[in-house]
Amino acid sequence: MLDRIYLPEPWTLALTMVLVILLTSLNYVVIWLQNRQQVALVWMLAASLLSTLGFVLRIALPGPAGVVIAPVSILVAVGCIWMGCRAVGGRGPWLPALLIPPALWLLLCCLPGFFTPPTARFAAPCLLVAPLLVLALGALWPTGAERRIGRWFVSALLSIQTAICLGWGIAQGVSMARDLGIGTDAIDLPFSAFTLMGFNLMMSFAFVALVKEQSDWDYMQTAQRDALTGLGNRRRLDDSLQKAWRVSRRTGTPLAVLMIDVDHFKAYNDRYGHPAGDACLRAIAHALRGGLLRRTDEVSRYGGEEFAVLLAGTADLEARTVAERLRLAVREMALPHPAGPDGIVTISLGVAVAGAASGLSDGAALLQAADQALYRAKEAGRDRIEIFASASARPPAPPSPALRLGPV
Ligand code: GH3
Ligand code: MG
Ligand code: MG
Repeated sequence: MLDRIYLPEPWTLALTMVLVILLTSLNYVVIWLQNRQQVALVWMLAASLLSTLGFVLRIALPGPAGVVIAPVSILVAVGCIWMGCRAVGGRGPWLPALLIPPALWLLLCCLPGFFTPPTARFAAPCLLVAPLLVLALGALWPTGAERRIGRWFVSALLSIQTAICLGWGIAQGVSMARDLGIGTDAIDLPFSAFTLMGFNLMMSFAFVALVKEQSDWDYMQTAQRDALTGLGNRRRLDDSLQKAWRVSRRTGTPLAVLMIDVDHFKAYNDRYGHPAGDACLRAIAHALRGGLLRRTDEVSRYGGEEFAVLLAGTADLEARTVAERLRLAVREMALPHPAGPDGIVTISLGVAVAGAASGLSDGAALLQAADQALYRAKEAGRDRIEIFASASARPPAPPSPALRLGPV
């Protein structure tokens, strides 16, 4: 029955494939020229060209030469796909990946009797390609990778191609046993050509979408990061505060904000100079980050020598504990500062918590409340914590000196 199906000539197929692949390759080249840091595109371009070369070699070299060499090119191409996915996942290339699968294939070719059942030479490359595709799929999803459309699109294509390779490899194995006539060039060549063309065509769109998403994401991260300290900047704080506020309202959980200001920092700059001031801010940022224990706690540089911390799901007492931990973390660095309260660099903190009875209307009001508390901490002598008490009156915060001196 298979004999009656019209199948294109091998050279017509090869020519169509070369044209399609050259056009899809343009896609990679143009996007790469726009952003040459995206090496993943170069790997994918290499994969596209090598897979086509493999197909052309199979037709151009009749006899055993083509049968042995063509899969080498295809296997290196799939290795390149894996390297492209690693590059997207932020990892460097692992070059043995390009050598081991072709070496395995050549080893198989040396086995006595490997070519006697013809289907073995069709099935083996498919079964070698499948694990490489699975590795590529795994490399696309490093821990914490964002679930975005491009990544899903590429993953779906890799999964489909893996299923096709496995299915085709197994079908040829079964055909070998039952003599179904699948393992012939007349069937295998058009099948490989159509799957390769479809895969390369779809992949060029999917991969470019993925890389574009990735670079948009990287730019967004850079735009929200403070260059000096590496913390989130004011823009990031505003975004996070809005989101945290919405979650807090929806779930009825408290949200705490700490406003932090370095004490007498102008004097520090005057005494040690601005570069030393910058180093001091970096050290404080590091200490603050180290003092936050939960993944959801977030510290940002509010501006100048001021920092803000968001503590989702955190009520008064716990927020005060965190504030005290941060205050002590900065003190423990014991950075010398002649104008500081004890001759060292210290910080003052204002704490505000939005809960059911806080009377605060939005994130901005919460930030302002923490700022008011910080102002009071400054007025009361610095190196201490003050808690914002809303008009709807909660018990007053313990006196500041107790916070400063006593254990929490
Ligand atoms: P207070 O205890 O009342 O907060 O006194 P202060 O001196 O810390 O406050 P003031 O607002 O008078 O001074 C803040 C100083 O922080 C002034 C400014 O030069 C310094 N500053 C702000 N941003 C940076 C920065 O990025 N690097 C350095 N080195 N200094 C900065
Ligand atoms: Mg200040
Ligand atoms: Mg200050």
